[in-house]
Amino acid sequence: MKEKTVVSERTLVLVKPDGVSRGLVGEVIARIERKGLKLAALELRTADRAVAEEHYAEHAGKSFYGDLVEFITGGPLVAIVVEGTRAISAFRQLAGGTDPVEKATPGTIRGDFGLEVQFNLVHGSDSPESADREIKIWFPSL
Ligand code: UDP
Repeated sequence: MKEKTVVSERTLVLVKPDGVSRGLVGEVIARIERKGLKLAALELRTADRAVAEEHYAEHAGKSFYGDLVEFITGGPLVAIVVEGTRAISAFRQLAGGTDPVEKATPGTIRGDFGLEVQFNLVHGSDSPESADREIKIWFPSL
């Protein structure tokens, strides 16, 4: 049988301001670690407008964009670089779908703790290209 090459990836995770204010930082980190992923960098900070707009650039012009930028800059968040095998998909699986009620299933972070689409607690990069781009935004020195 052919050995499958296991590729380690990095992904950018945010515990958004709602997750921080609700005291769910430890819960999110515990789930990341239990899955077998590693923390490569971590910072508690309040995002300024420029960082938030760059991070969510793909949504510029959408109806929810203004509210989303207000929300993400509205309080401290925790930015984390998570590392490990298939880290991008693995964290998206832990997070659950964007809508915490209609899409995220119980057992996921959003499915267990969220009710509203905007206040869905966490962000995780959706592709290797997004991960590279987002890690540069939040951790330019990495
Ligand atoms: N969002 C929102 N309203 C919507 C869709 C998305 O407020 O109708 C917010 C929500 O916080 C989401 C973020 O915008 O996490 C980015 O949306 P995306 O579709 O990229 O979802 P994600 O990758 O975070 O699941």
